[in-house]
Amino acid sequence: MSKSIQLILMYHKIIDEEGIYALPPKRFRKQLEIIQKSTKLSVITCEEALHNKSGIVITFDDGTDDNYTAASILEEFGMKGTFFVIGNRINQKGFLTAQQIKELYQRGHSIGTHTFTEYFGLDRADYQTALHEWKQGRETIEDIIGSKVNFGSVPGGYYSPKMVQPTYEAGVEHLFTSEPILTRWCVNHCWIYGRFTVYSYSPDESIKKLVELSKLEIAKDKFIWNTKKTVKKVFRKQYLFFYEWYKQSRMKLNK
Ligand SMILES: [Zn+2]
Repeated sequence: MSKSIQLILMYHKIIDEEGIYALPPKRFRKQLEIIQKSTKLSVITCEEALHNKSGIVITFDDGTDDNYTAASILEEFGMKGTFFVIGNRINQKGFLTAQQIKELYQRGHSIGTHTFTEYFGLDRADYQTALHEWKQGRETIEDIIGSKVNFGSVPGGYYSPKMVQPTYEAGVEHLFTSEPILTRWCVNHCWIYGRFTVYSYSPDESIKKLVELSKLEIAKDKFIWNTKKTVKKVFRKQYLFFYEWYKQSRMKLNK
Protein backbone atom coordinates (compact mmCIF):
# COMPACT_ATOMS: atom_id res chain seq x y z
CA MET A 1 0.00 0.00 0.00
CA SER A 2 1.33 3.41 -0.90
CA LYS A 3 1.78 6.05 1.78
CA SER A 4 -0.91 8.65 2.36
CA ILE A 5 -0.16 12.20 1.38
CA GLN A 6 -1.45 14.96 3.61
CA LEU A 7 -0.89 18.56 2.69
CA ILE A 8 -1.65 20.34 5.94
CA LEU A 9 -1.80 24.12 5.65
CA MET A 10 -1.25 26.34 8.66
CA TYR A 11 -3.02 29.69 8.77
CA HIS A 12 -3.34 32.11 11.68
CA LYS A 13 -5.49 35.23 11.39
CA ILE A 14 -7.93 35.84 8.52
CA ILE A 15 -8.34 39.58 8.83
CA ASP A 16 -7.58 42.90 7.09
CA GLU A 17 -4.57 43.73 9.20
CA GLU A 18 -0.82 44.15 8.79
CA GLY A 19 1.30 41.19 9.79
CA ILE A 20 2.99 38.13 8.39
CA TYR A 21 0.39 35.87 9.96
CA ALA A 22 -2.67 37.93 8.94
CA LEU A 23 -4.35 37.17 5.65
CA PRO A 24 -7.21 39.37 4.35
CA PRO A 25 -10.51 37.44 3.86
CA LYS A 26 -10.46 38.31 0.15
CA ARG A 27 -7.13 36.57 -0.33
CA PHE A 28 -8.22 33.66 1.83
CA ARG A 29 -11.23 33.15 -0.48
CA LYS A 30 -8.96 33.28 -3.50
CA GLN A 31 -6.67 30.66 -1.97
CA LEU A 32 -9.64 28.41 -1.21
CA GLU A 33 -10.67 28.68 -4.86
CA ILE A 34 -7.17 27.54 -5.81
CA ILE A 35 -7.30 24.72 -3.27
CA GLN A 36 -10.69 23.59 -4.56
CA LYS A 37 -9.29 23.31 -8.07
CA SER A 38 -6.44 21.01 -7.05
CA THR A 39 -6.28 18.00 -9.34
CA LYS A 40 -4.20 16.03 -6.85
CA LEU A 41 -5.94 16.30 -3.45
CA SER A 42 -9.24 17.41 -1.97
CA VAL A 43 -9.93 19.01 1.39
CA ILE A 44 -10.54 16.53 4.22
CA THR A 45 -11.34 16.96 7.91
CA CYS A 46 -8.79 16.61 10.68
CA GLU A 47 -10.42 13.37 11.82
CA GLU A 48 -10.02 11.91 8.33
CA ALA A 49 -6.35 12.87 8.41
CA LEU A 50 -5.96 11.20 11.80
CA HIS A 51 -7.32 8.07 10.13
CA ASN A 52 -4.56 8.45 7.56
CA LYS A 53 -6.71 9.50 4.60
CA SER A 54 -4.93 11.52 1.89
CA GLY A 55 -5.99 15.12 1.35
CA ILE A 56 -5.58 18.77 2.25
CA VAL A 57 -6.24 19.88 5.83
CA ILE A 58 -6.78 23.57 6.59
CA THR A 59 -5.61 24.48 10.07
CA PHE A 60 -5.45 27.67 12.14
CA ASP A 61 -3.22 28.32 15.13
CA ASP A 62 -4.02 30.52 18.17
CA GLY A 63 -7.83 30.71 17.97
CA THR A 64 -8.16 34.46 17.47
CA ASP A 65 -11.75 35.71 17.12
CA ASP A 66 -11.45 36.34 13.36
CA ASN A 67 -11.28 32.53 13.00
CA TYR A 68 -15.04 32.51 13.54
CA THR A 69 -15.46 34.35 10.22
CA ALA A 70 -12.81 32.15 8.60
CA ALA A 71 -14.99 29.12 9.42
CA SER A 72 -17.95 30.70 7.60
CA ILE A 73 -15.77 31.38 4.56
CA LEU A 74 -14.66 27.74 4.56
CA GLU A 75 -18.30 26.67 4.69
CA GLU A 76 -19.03 28.72 1.55
CA PHE A 77 -16.71 26.25 -0.17
CA GLY A 78 -18.15 23.22 1.60
CA MET A 79 -14.94 22.84 3.60
CA LYS A 80 -14.21 22.29 7.28
CA GLY A 81 -11.28 23.70 9.22
CA THR A 82 -9.21 22.71 12.22
CA PHE A 83 -8.75 25.30 14.94
CA PHE A 84 -5.94 24.94 17.47
CA VAL A 85 -6.87 27.12 20.41
CA ILE A 86 -4.85 28.37 23.38
CA GLY A 87 -6.52 27.25 26.63
CA ASN A 88 -6.06 30.37 28.74
CA ARG A 89 -6.98 32.81 25.94
CA ILE A 90 -10.52 31.51 25.48
CA ASN A 91 -13.09 34.24 26.23
CA GLN A 92 -10.36 36.90 26.27
CA LYS A 93 -10.58 39.94 24.07
CA GLY A 94 -9.41 39.17 20.53
CA PHE A 95 -9.88 35.42 20.92
CA LEU A 96 -12.72 32.96 20.35
CA THR A 97 -15.26 32.56 23.14
CA ALA A 98 -16.18 29.18 24.59
CA GLN A 99 -19.61 29.57 22.98
CA GLN A 100 -18.07 30.17 19.54
CA ILE A 101 -15.73 27.19 19.93
CA LYS A 102 -18.65 24.96 20.85
CA GLU A 103 -20.63 26.22 17.88
CA LEU A 104 -17.74 25.67 15.44
CA TYR A 105 -17.42 22.12 16.72
CA GLN A 106 -21.14 21.53 16.28
CA ARG A 107 -20.92 22.88 12.73
CA GLY A 108 -18.43 20.12 11.95
CA HIS A 109 -15.10 21.89 12.38
CA SER A 110 -12.34 20.34 14.44
CA ILE A 111 -10.98 21.86 17.63
CA GLY A 112 -7.51 20.93 18.85
CA THR A 113 -5.21 22.27 21.53
CA HIS A 114 -2.33 24.73 21.09
CA THR A 115 -1.29 24.08 24.75
CA PHE A 116 -2.72 25.97 27.71
CA THR A 117 -0.57 29.11 27.54
CA GLU A 118 0.90 28.86 24.00
CA TYR A 119 4.12 27.74 25.67
CA PHE A 120 7.12 28.58 23.51
CA GLY A 121 10.17 26.34 23.70
CA LEU A 122 8.40 23.09 24.63
CA ASP A 123 11.24 21.22 22.98
CA ARG A 124 13.43 22.08 25.98
CA ALA A 125 10.76 22.24 28.67
CA ASP A 126 10.92 19.81 31.56
CA TYR A 127 8.61 16.81 31.59
CA GLN A 128 6.10 18.18 34.09
CA THR A 129 5.75 21.54 32.34
CA ALA A 130 5.11 19.88 28.99
CA LEU A 131 2.68 17.41 30.54
CA HIS A 132 0.76 20.16 32.31
CA GLU A 133 0.60 22.41 29.21
CA TRP A 134 -0.92 19.72 27.01
CA LYS A 135 -3.17 18.18 29.65
CA GLN A 136 -4.71 21.44 30.80
CA GLY A 137 -5.01 22.69 27.22
CA ARG A 138 -6.75 19.50 26.12
CA GLU A 139 -9.10 19.32 29.11
CA THR A 140 -10.15 22.95 28.73
CA ILE A 141 -11.41 22.22 25.21
CA GLU A 142 -13.00 18.92 26.17
CA ASP A 143 -15.03 20.73 28.82
CA ILE A 144 -16.27 23.18 26.19
CA ILE A 145 -17.12 20.83 23.33
CA GLY A 146 -18.08 17.84 25.49
CA SER A 147 -16.01 15.45 23.43
CA LYS A 148 -12.55 13.87 23.49
CA VAL A 149 -9.65 15.88 22.07
CA ASN A 150 -6.50 13.96 21.21
CA PHE A 151 -4.66 16.27 18.82
CA GLY A 152 -2.66 19.45 19.22
CA SER A 153 -0.26 21.82 17.48
CA VAL A 154 3.17 22.84 18.73
CA PRO A 155 3.52 26.57 19.62
CA GLY A 156 6.21 28.42 17.67
CA GLY A 157 7.24 25.27 15.84
CA TYR A 158 9.47 24.20 18.74
CA TYR A 159 9.14 20.50 18.14
CA SER A 160 11.64 17.87 19.23
CA PRO A 161 11.19 14.09 19.59
CA LYS A 162 12.02 14.52 23.30
CA MET A 163 8.72 16.26 23.97
CA VAL A 164 6.65 13.43 22.53
CA GLN A 165 6.52 11.36 25.71
CA PRO A 166 4.89 13.97 28.00
CA THR A 167 2.66 15.05 25.10
CA TYR A 168 1.40 11.53 24.59
CA GLU A 169 0.99 10.94 28.31
CA ALA A 170 -1.14 14.11 28.43
CA GLY A 171 -3.52 12.48 25.95
CA VAL A 172 -2.32 14.20 22.77
CA GLU A 173 -1.84 11.27 20.41
CA HIS A 174 -1.54 13.34 17.24
CA LEU A 175 0.89 16.23 17.12
CA PHE A 176 0.98 18.88 14.39
CA THR A 177 4.34 20.57 13.80
CA SER A 178 5.51 23.28 11.37
CA GLU A 179 7.90 21.07 9.42
CA PRO A 180 6.91 21.07 5.74
CA ILE A 181 6.49 17.31 5.32
CA LEU A 182 3.70 15.49 3.44
CA THR A 183 3.52 12.20 5.31
CA ARG A 184 3.02 11.60 9.01
CA TRP A 185 5.49 9.62 11.09
CA CYS A 186 5.37 7.86 14.43
CA VAL A 187 7.43 8.56 17.56
CA ASN A 188 6.71 6.53 20.71
CA HIS A 189 3.12 5.69 19.62
CA CYS A 190 2.40 9.37 18.86
CA TRP A 191 1.66 10.41 15.28
CA ILE A 192 3.56 13.48 14.13
CA TYR A 193 2.31 15.57 11.20
CA GLY A 194 4.06 18.18 9.10
CA ARG A 195 2.44 21.48 8.10
CA PHE A 196 3.03 24.16 5.50
CA THR A 197 2.82 27.71 6.86
CA VAL A 198 0.87 30.26 4.84
CA TYR A 199 2.27 33.76 5.39
CA SER A 200 0.63 36.95 4.19
CA TYR A 201 3.53 37.35 1.79
CA SER A 202 3.17 33.81 0.39
CA PRO A 203 2.12 34.39 -3.22
CA ASP A 204 -1.14 32.71 -4.24
CA GLU A 205 0.91 31.12 -7.01
CA SER A 206 2.86 29.20 -4.35
CA ILE A 207 -0.38 27.79 -2.94
CA LYS A 208 -1.31 26.70 -6.44
CA LYS A 209 2.00 24.90 -6.88
CA LEU A 210 1.74 23.41 -3.41
CA VAL A 211 -1.71 21.89 -3.93
CA GLU A 212 -0.49 20.44 -7.21
CA LEU A 213 2.32 18.91 -5.13
CA SER A 214 5.08 20.62 -7.09
CA LYS A 215 8.33 19.07 -5.92
CA LEU A 216 10.16 22.35 -6.41
CA GLU A 217 7.68 24.30 -4.27
CA ILE A 218 7.89 21.73 -1.49
CA ALA A 219 11.69 21.80 -1.64
CA LYS A 220 11.55 25.60 -1.43
CA ASP A 221 9.37 25.47 1.68
CA LYS A 222 11.73 22.92 3.21
CA PHE A 223 14.70 25.16 2.50
CA ILE A 224 13.03 28.21 4.08
CA TRP A 225 11.95 26.17 7.07
CA ASN A 226 15.44 24.75 7.63
CA THR A 227 16.97 28.22 7.39
CA LYS A 228 14.46 29.54 9.91
CA LYS A 229 15.16 26.59 12.18
CA THR A 230 18.89 27.35 12.11
CA VAL A 231 18.31 31.04 12.83
CA LYS A 232 16.00 30.13 15.71
CA LYS A 233 18.61 27.75 17.08
CA VAL A 234 21.53 30.17 16.86
CA PHE A 235 19.54 33.17 18.07
CA ARG A 236 17.24 31.21 20.34
CA LYS A 237 17.35 33.63 23.27
CA GLN A 238 16.77 36.66 21.10
CA TYR A 239 14.02 34.90 19.21
CA LEU A 240 12.17 33.86 22.35
CA PHE A 241 12.64 37.31 23.83
CA PHE A 242 11.25 38.90 20.70
CA TYR A 243 8.32 36.52 20.65
CA GLU A 244 7.51 37.12 24.31
CA TRP A 245 7.53 40.84 23.59
CA TYR A 246 5.36 40.31 20.51
CA LYS A 247 2.87 38.22 22.47
CA GLN A 248 2.66 40.76 25.27
CA SER A 249 2.19 43.67 22.91
CA ARG A 250 -0.45 41.69 21.02
CA MET A 251 -2.31 41.10 24.29
CA LYS A 252 -2.03 44.75 25.24
CA LEU A 253 -3.38 45.76 21.86
CA ASN A 254 -6.37 43.53 22.43
CA LYS A 255 -7.18 45.02 25.81
ZN1 LIG B 1 0.70 30.04 18.18
